[in-house]
Amino acid sequence: RLREGRALAQDVWSIFNAANLPHDCINLGQGYMNFAPPEWIQEAANEALGTVSASHYSHPRGRPRLREALKKYYEPMIGRTLNTEKEILVTSGANEGQYSVFVAFLEEGDEVIMFEPFFDQYLPSVTFNGGKPVYVPLHPDTTSHKTTSNDWVVDFEELRRAITSRTKMIIVNTPHNPVGKVFTQTELEKIAALAEEFNLLIMSDEVYDTLTFDDKEHVRIATLPGMWDRTVTVGSAGKMFNATGYRVGWLEAAAAGLEQIVERKFLEKQRREYSERRQVLIDCFDSLGLKYTRPEGSYFILLDIGAITWPEDYPFPESVKGRGRDFLACWYIATEFGVSSIPVSEFYCEEHVSIGERYARFAFCKDVETLRQAACRLQNLR
Ligand code: GLN
Repeated sequence: RLREGRALAQDVWSIFNAANLPHDCINLGQGYMNFAPPEWIQEAANEALGTVSASHYSHPRGRPRLREALKKYYEPMIGRTLNTEKEILVTSGANEGQYSVFVAFLEEGDEVIMFEPFFDQYLPSVTFNGGKPVYVPLHPDTTSHKTTSNDWVVDFEELRRAITSRTKMIIVNTPHNPVGKVFTQTELEKIAALAEEFNLLIMSDEVYDTLTFDDKEHVRIATLPGMWDRTVTVGSAGKMFNATGYRVGWLEAAAAGLEQIVERKFLEKQRREYSERRQVLIDCFDSLGLKYTRPEGSYFILLDIGAITWPEDYPFPESVKGRGRDFLACWYIATEFGVSSIPVSEFYCEEHVSIGERYARFAFCKDVETLRQAACRLQNLR
């Protein structure tokens, strides 16, 4: 069930891992922060470590305090009362949450529609559970120099044509990794209408829901009429609280975080900080005259690498040879200029590598000083 062809290839996270790159390379590759979770979250985690209850088996659906905190936090946004026994499940990371959705609902041969580019881990999670991926591309606007993430659009006729009698589910990802697209209410309504018409489920990956810019509003597809019963929404405390490694059990830190998030005005501050971080890379690419997609959500920015070239005899390792042009470009930029990024063809199926290989994904979940340093190094790309 592994992907044909790519089955034996190394995954992109291993190839572009800091361990394989020059030691002083600035990591704008895999999306994790170079700063710690806020102190009040750390304190809650430390406190929990010392308690008897948090040191032993948890409730299988997640600690009651955490589920209660999730209920209180999400209810106003979702506009309904949540049942902590039946409608909230805590998992060890969003990947496990998504995997659980596929385990629960997919039967052998069920088709799952995903928009390309797609977060690469959907693919093994779907295929290991007998699902068959069906790809519907987001179409970028390649003509304009100033592309924003919402210029990557769904062709709804194409989406309709992709639906067959075997289609079970559509994966929605908003804000989107790697494009940064924040799906509009109208787009989500059109997806919802198709889900109703063809009796489909939605797995809505909303792990970047707190990270939107330029006053873009994050719309939850589960809140649209008729969609509550068809949708499983997956969120991530790791993205919310700068703690991508706090996967297992979460002690009580996530609960403490959710309990205090509004009162501390934490997300407003975080959004401003991320806007500033995004701006450093935008200014950098603008000054280089390179094309990129301005992201309206998430913490990634896609750089069009078409204009970047390297010496023919550049010593590339076997792991990137024979992959898309973007693998070579990302390797070259990392080893020659000291800034790592992620090749975007990994987020496309084999047949569509030629679309994805035009882009490198840079993560801006780093402190401004580090991003400025990266921008400074990238000036040499000119
Ligand atoms: N979601 C993160 C990213 O896209 C982490 C990916 C991962 O852990 N494999 O960078």
